[in-house]
Amino acid sequence: MAMELGPGIPRRCPCGAMTIVLTSKTRENPGRKFYRCGAVFGGNHVFKWADEAIAEEIEVITGKQASMEEVLVGIREEIREFKKDISEIVVLLDKLSSKIQM
Ligand SMILES: [Zn+2]
Repeated sequence: MAMELGPGIPRRCPCGAMTIVLTSKTRENPGRKFYRCGAVFGGNHVFKWADEAIAEEIEVITGKQASMEEVLVGIREEIREFKKDISEIVVLLDKLSSKIQM
């Protein structure tokens, strides 16, 4: 394939057209699904076997999930610190309001 495509399921052809899924009827690949440019069937437009695209997509998603889990760990840590800050503020407010009431 001459053109550069990212890994995973091709949703758009570089020409701008959406891709479509079709089923091969060739003797070499009977019943095998593939993604193709929805506008033009030709050398400069998307053609990608669906099984390969889906296997790549799973890898991409697995990588994204791993980095999202890392982000989530960081967010949980921040929430824990915010809660600590809030309870310190509440204690301070309690002290202040008891001083004001005196
Ligand atoms: Zn195209």
